[in-house]
Amino acid sequence: MNTAQRFRSALLAWFAEHQRPLPWRTHYQPYAIWIAEIMGQQTQMERVVVYFQRWMKQFPDIPALAAASEQAVFKAWEGLGYYSRARNILKTAQLLIEQHDGKVPNSQAALLILPGIGSYTAAAICSIAFNQPVPLVDANVERVFCRIEDIAEPPKQAATKKRLLQLCTELLPADAPRQFNQALMELGALVCTPRTPACPACPVRDCCRAFAAGTVSQRPVSLKKPEKVDLSMACGIITHEGRMYIQQRLPDDIWGGLWEFPGGQMKEGETAEQAAAREITEETGFQVTDLRPFAVVVHHYTKYRVTLHAFFCRLEEGQTAEPTLQAASAFRWVSQEELDSFAFSSGHRKLIRKMNIPENPAVRRQRGHVT
Ligand code: SF4
Repeated sequence: MNTAQRFRSALLAWFAEHQRPLPWRTHYQPYAIWIAEIMGQQTQMERVVVYFQRWMKQFPDIPALAAASEQAVFKAWEGLGYYSRARNILKTAQLLIEQHDGKVPNSQAALLILPGIGSYTAAAICSIAFNQPVPLVDANVERVFCRIEDIAEPPKQAATKKRLLQLCTELLPADAPRQFNQALMELGALVCTPRTPACPACPVRDCCRAFAAGTVSQRPVSLKKPEKVDLSMACGIITHEGRMYIQQRLPDDIWGGLWEFPGGQMKEGETAEQAAAREITEETGFQVTDLRPFAVVVHHYTKYRVTLHAFFCRLEEGQTAEPTLQAASAFRWVSQEELDSFAFSSGHRKLIRKMNIPENPAVRRQRGHVT
C-alpha cells in the first residue's frame, strides 16, 4: 500500500468509528446539508446542532421555509449573526420552489447562482449531500494538510490554497467522497485541533511530516490578524405608558431587518448620555428626558469590538408617541415580554437579557415605568 492509500484507509476507518452523530448525518438530505453548512460558517458545532434541530422543527422542508416570513426566519437565526445569510436562505428557498421543483439542485453550476451559496457551500452540498467526488477545503482541512505536508507558508496564500486543493483532489477516493471529506474535517475538529492536537491518538500520524519533524506547533503558519477597531455606541430604551419603543433597521443597512433600540455611534467629545439623546432625536424625532444608565455591554464582531451604553429614558411631556422614522422601516411600542418575539442583533439581545435579571438595580427602578 502506498502512502496515499494508507492515509485514505486509516482516515476512513477512524471516521467510521469516531464520527459525531450529527443530526444531518442520519439521512444526508440535501436540504438539511445546505442549512447545516450555512449555519456552520463561523459557528461552533454544539451551537449549530441546537439551532439546526430547532430550525428543522419550525421549517421541516423547503416548502415550509419558502412560505415563512422574513421575521420568522430572522427570529430562528437570532444569535448566529451575519443575518444576510438568513435572508439569502429564505430567498433561495423561494427560488427552489419557483425554479427547481422545490429541490436542492445537484450540480455546482446550478447551486452557485443561488443567493448565499458560494463555491465552498456548493462543493459541500455536492460532495456531502450527493456523494459527488468534489474536494472540500475548510479551515480544519487546511490545518490538517499543512501539518501532514509540513507546509511552511500560510494556508490563506493563493499558492498554498492551490496546493491544498490539489492535495485534496488527488487523495479524494471516487467511491467515498462524502465520507472522506467529512472524515478530514472531523479529524481537524476532534484530533488535529488548532492548539493541542492529540497526535498520539491520530489515525494518520504515520503519514504526518510535521509530527516526524517536530513542527506541529508551528503549523499552520498564520498570517497576523488585524487588530479589532473599538467602537463606542449609545442607545436609549424609551418607555411610554408601560411600553418600550423598538424600531426595525432598514433592509439594506448592516443588520438590515433586525429590531433595535434607537441609538448609534458616539461622537468625539460627547458623553454616552448625550449621544443616546442625540441619536434618538435624529432617528425618531422624539425628544427624551430623564436618561438613566441601564447597562454597558461589549460585543465582538469580526472587525469591531463594540461597547454599547444603554439608558432608560422617557418621552418629554406632551409629545406624541408617533415617531418620524429616519433610520428604520417600522416601529412598535411593546411590553417587555413581547420583546422576545422580535429578532435583535446580538448587542441589543444582551440588553434584553439584562432586563430579565430582577436584581439589576436599573431594572428595579424601571419597574415603575414598564410592565
Ligand atoms: S499527527 Fe498530529 S499534527 Fe499530524 S495530522 Fe495527526 S493530529 Fe495532526
